[in-house]
Amino acid sequence: MSLLNDVIDVVKDATGSVGKKADQVIGISKVKMKTVRINSDLRAVYEKLGSAVYHMQKQKYVNEELIASMTEEIDELLYQLSEANEELGKLKNVRVCSCCGASNPGDSMYCAKCGNQIKKDFEDYSAETDSTVEIQDDKKEEDLQQ
Ligand SMILES: [Zn+2]
Repeated sequence: MSLLNDVIDVVKDATGSVGKKADQVIGISKVKMKTVRINSDLRAVYEKLGSAVYHMQKQKYVNEELIASMTEEIDELLYQLSEANEELGKLKNVRVCSCCGASNPGDSMYCAKCGNQIKKDFEDYSAETDSTVEIQDDKKEEDLQQ
């Protein structure tokens, strides 16, 4: 599990430098390195899991605990990877489609490749939430009067 802790430390390091424009280029290469590292960790765990399953099959004994812990490790790495890709998208001002993984320009509402609606950034949401709530309240009042 030390492998996993290393990855988490790298994630923490990288997020600390996000935000300043001067650090943007450094940030992008940092996050890119992080994704390369997570991918190689993923490959290693997949390989380990495959080998373990092979030996279990040979010995006619299934160690479900071992499979579960490796699956957990893979899930964690996949999560780290999606976080890193999202971060990379923010740094490059692109929006990565959560459906097909395609990169779209930063102001895209829909994915150019698959048409999936691209989730807006948190900042955009908070800026628009107030007006949306007001409109909904007005509507409700009108409904009550009728
Ligand atoms: Zn897409």
